[in-house]
Amino acid sequence: MTATPGRHESGCLRLVLGDQLSDDLTALEGLDPRRDIVLMAEVRDEATYVRHHRQKIALVFAAMRNHADRLRARGVTVRYVGIEVADNTHAIVTELKRALDEEQVAAVVMTECGEWRLAQALEAFSRTASVPVEIRPDRRFICSHERFRRWASDRIQMRMEFFYREMRRETGLLMDGDAPVGGRWNFDAENRKGLPAGLRPPTRVRTRPNPVARQAIADVDRLFSDHFGDLDTFGWPTTAAEAETALAKFLSEILPGFGDWQDAMSRGQPWMWHGLISTSLNLGLLDPLDICRRAEAEYRAGRAPLNAVEGFIRQILGWREFVRGVYWLKAPEYRARNFLDADRRLPDFFWSGETTMACVADAVGTTRRNAYAHHIQRLMVTGNLAMMLGVHPDAVDDWYLSVYADAFEWVEMPNTRGMATFADGGIVGSKPYAASGAYINRMSDYCSGCRYDVKARTGETACPFNRLYWGFLERNRQRLSGNVRLAMPYRTLDGFTPERRTALLQEAEAVWQALGATVADPANPVTPWAGPQGR
Ligand SMILES: Cc1cc2nc3c(=O)[nH]c(=O)nc-3n(C[C@H](O)[C@H](O)[C@H](O)COP(=O)(O)OP(=O)(O)OC[C@H]3O[C@@H](n4cnc5c(N)ncnc54)[C@H](O)[C@@H]3O)c2cc1C
Ligand code: SF4
Repeated sequence: MTATPGRHESGCLRLVLGDQLSDDLTALEGLDPRRDIVLMAEVRDEATYVRHHRQKIALVFAAMRNHADRLRARGVTVRYVGIEVADNTHAIVTELKRALDEEQVAAVVMTECGEWRLAQALEAFSRTASVPVEIRPDRRFICSHERFRRWASDRIQMRMEFFYREMRRETGLLMDGDAPVGGRWNFDAENRKGLPAGLRPPTRVRTRPNPVARQAIADVDRLFSDHFGDLDTFGWPTTAAEAETALAKFLSEILPGFGDWQDAMSRGQPWMWHGLISTSLNLGLLDPLDICRRAEAEYRAGRAPLNAVEGFIRQILGWREFVRGVYWLKAPEYRARNFLDADRRLPDFFWSGETTMACVADAVGTTRRNAYAHHIQRLMVTGNLAMMLGVHPDAVDDWYLSVYADAFEWVEMPNTRGMATFADGGIVGSKPYAASGAYINRMSDYCSGCRYDVKARTGETACPFNRLYWGFLERNRQRLSGNVRLAMPYRTLDGFTPERRTALLQEAEAVWQALGATVADPANPVTPWAGPQGR
């Protein structure tokens, strides 16, 4: 905070938030290093409004500090408010007001932020600020809000697959003229292989923390000891150059196996063939369209198969852009959705990992150690379990937003309230991803080492996913039986006697009790992490 009052009278104050660390950020367009000031602030409000994993806080602080250094090296004046600056007000809007008082700039420029809650606060600030405030669109996405709204406006149901096809046509990615490369839009059917015995995922070299990251890790260790998660395993890129190095290695060495084993899980193998790029993408260290084009180039050069490249591009061009579109189209009412009237508390083992369910213990274990679990662990293990247990969506949201290094509400919430728990009633997905233990057994090696019997359906030693599955359908019959994609299981259920259906409900209730999914306090359904003793 060294800018001299009065020096910047005709300049702009340019706000850069912690997930806006891109050189081509619209807030920096037209930046004049002689007159403008960039404001960056490590604010406690943002770091603590949920108890974020300590790796996530360290990642954001480290990446912000590195970005500020880079801007300074280009001659830009950066007003950087560190977490330990004595007069840090710990709120973005207050820091903006203070900067306006002290710097006497002529205008404020910012890029729209990624989260509804903060966007409201910044818009309110813009209406009352003492100088004009310009909020520019965020162009670091492939599909603009306006484009998504146009796409969504003329359809009864939004389905990612159709959105994705339109994005393929518009970007030309994996297109041969008007037709999809390979004659099909989607090669998902080839991407559902379980891991064959003996095949081990490639060894991954993680990014060694640079000196700035090491300092951020030390700061977080000292200041956020009451937050969840390990710090000593930190391996995330915190500069654009580090992110580029990791991406280049992924594209050349790992991508060819991405498709085949995309849905596979294996005990003690957190990374599999996944990209580990979501943190860098969400912070702005990598560009989504550039990644897609480079993945396509690997296919065109014959270095990666089509099922891998199409599957990978679909996650970024399709899912990532789609969930962002849904979030902004449906906010804020989306945040209150609870289609299945779920009312249970989140069991403690989601934090501690102390459970005899081998699949859940592994997914929560990597979450705590690495602030990461891959998509299928998030969806089909923890998400599936939370949904079938009837955990209140506020508690589910709070957990996912807290525990993953890549969690920002615009991408987390449609995945949890939509894809994983069906709390949105079918906006993101066409049916709940409810599954018994058979799915997990097919896609992983967890069950062979589990205390529970994945083949058994009832009784204390039966797999809890099996014991929950039919009870989940029976309990939600009124809400779900009309869903055409669930016609088959409901036909099976209809073939059961009424006594058997009642017994299924009792079986599920017994699991709820055994796993600690008791009824949540309706006034405060979130079950936060209890503290360091459970780390
Ligand atoms: C319940 C649940 C919660 C999730 N929460 C988040 C979150 O908070 N932040 C987040 O970035 N992703 C989230 N995802 C999506 C996905 O799990 C992560 O993006 C992925 O695991 C990140 O690891 P990766 O970079 O190795 O991904 P890869 O498997 O290598 O995929 C490549 C990229 O595709 C994108 N992607 C893939 N699937 C999705 C998806 N469903 N939605 C949006 N982007 C996707 C990501 O940017 C990812 O980096 C969530 C998924 C589920 C089911
Ligand atoms: S038996 Fe059930 S609880 Fe155990 S690992 Fe398999 S799916 Fe998970």
